[in-house]
Amino acid sequence: NKHPLAEIFRADFPALDNNVYLDSAATALKPQTMINATVEYYAHHTATAQRSLHQDALKVTAAIDEARQSVADFIHSQSSHEIIWTRGTTESINIIAQSYARPLLQVNDEIIVSELEHHSNLLPWLIVAKQTGAKLIKWSAEVNELSSLLSNRTKIVAITQMSNVTGFCPDLAKISQLVHQYNAILVVDGAQGVVHQPIDVTALNIDFYAFSAHKLYGPTGLGVLYGKQHLLERMDVWQGGGKMLKNASFLGFEVEELPYKFEAGTQNIAGILGFQATLLWLKKWDEAQLDCYLKQLVNYAESKLAQLKHIQFYQVKNSPIISFTIENIHHNDIAILLSEQNIAIRTGELCAKPLMDKLGCHGVMRISLMPYNNQQDIDSFISALQNAIELLT
Ligand code: PMP
Repeated sequence: NKHPLAEIFRADFPALDNNVYLDSAATALKPQTMINATVEYYAHHTATAQRSLHQDALKVTAAIDEARQSVADFIHSQSSHEIIWTRGTTESINIIAQSYARPLLQVNDEIIVSELEHHSNLLPWLIVAKQTGAKLIKWSAEVNELSSLLSNRTKIVAITQMSNVTGFCPDLAKISQLVHQYNAILVVDGAQGVVHQPIDVTALNIDFYAFSAHKLYGPTGLGVLYGKQHLLERMDVWQGGGKMLKNASFLGFEVEELPYKFEAGTQNIAGILGFQATLLWLKKWDEAQLDCYLKQLVNYAESKLAQLKHIQFYQVKNSPIISFTIENIHHNDIAILLSEQNIAIRTGELCAKPLMDKLGCHGVMRISLMPYNNQQDIDSFISALQNAIELLT
């Protein structure tokens, strides 16, 4: 049952040599190309960007903006000036909350946040609501309900592209249309969706989009904040430090242009170079074919799991994220037993406590699949899971 293209794809991931990795929604594995680019920088071309004038420094400076353009192309933003390098999705959303929302929000203004959200797309809004007296409004993520929640008090609507628990993908096109009828802005957390769905921030009229490189086969410690240029321009700076300014004295400073105004201090240069290599590498694959293969694999995994007794599923149909519980068995006991056989899954509240409360559980087991997984991975997992269940009952 080997799929020729998926097998070639799989061969690019050295971490799969002795590991059944079913935890890609936590972080994706890294292709050799990305690892090579990172090593190359550290081993032979270490230099800073935008500062020194020696050869490697000039090359690195140019490469960072090339990578920025690659990201702009990847998410279809209109200009690379709309792409800000951050530490990850979490930092990107905190920047939006503190630099965009905080100066704007007044007492009793409303921020609508879906109840599917990862803590990264909830806590920044809770914090800014507390700072400003704005109200947080809970939303089911269904379009129909949104119309009844929106009003002229709504300033921001925050929603995930794909839930990291249920795999649900909200209808961003319809949501965006509704949100803009009320002159509110739409913030989309792309952390989980970016690797599974093409995204066009311009066509979808998304105001802010955040994602992390590490879930898109890229390095950790690097993320992206996309914002519409006119919004980024009017936003306060985030952090102060080197290279986010044009001029400084003891009386004050003049802010640099976009995108540098939000990038105080030395960027994650090795990360950005590694990510650029990842984005170039990604282009060479036939995404439709890999996606079709992934769907078959998801089907296979679901049908095998469905044969287990007392299993309850929480994900939507055909989702590469499969979350489940087994009656009277603690998810962490399973995780530990599987880990003894080098099988990596994720268990617990998945950083989505309000959603866990809604689902009425204290935690789940989650496997998340990527095109580098294969049927053998599923078979090893199912057999280890069956053994673990037997041992625990
Ligand atoms: N949102 C979602 C939906 C996620 O799955 C994650 C990562 N688990 C995040 C946000 C946060 O991403 P990061 O930790 O890379 O900032």
